[in-house]
Amino acid sequence: MFCKIIKGDIPSKKIFEDDEFIIFNDINPAASTHVLLVPKMHLESLNELDNPVLAGKMLLMIPKVAKMLGIQDSYRTIINTGTSAGQSVLHVHIHILGGKYIGTPK
Ligand code: 5GP
Repeated sequence: MFCKIIKGDIPSKKIFEDDEFIIFNDINPAASTHVLLVPKMHLESLNELDNPVLAGKMLLMIPKVAKMLGIQDSYRTIINTGTSAGQSVLHVHIHILGGKYIGTPK
């Protein structure tokens, strides 16, 4: 699914792209700003992310993306792992949500 977005086979509202990552708007936003930070390398979930350099880059990108989106003062990040935890796309990704008050997670 996200591999098709990365290849451009499925259109998306892209926020940023480089050799390793793509960031695009979630199709079904849960906040006024809701993007997905996706590594281009296909890893099914966080359980398969064993590259500390990639993991570090992903983490360090979050505040930069938040700043890019103007939500740096207040935002939430979510990584769902496994279907019971709400992972619906089996390609590791970080949700970044912010903007209008988004409440607290249940
Ligand atoms: P998960 O449920 O796996 O944590 O997150 C997957 C997210 O991907 C969901 O929030 C869902 O709305 C989003 N999503 C699923 N399919 C597409 C798509 O084709 N395009 C975009 N932009 N987002 C998608």
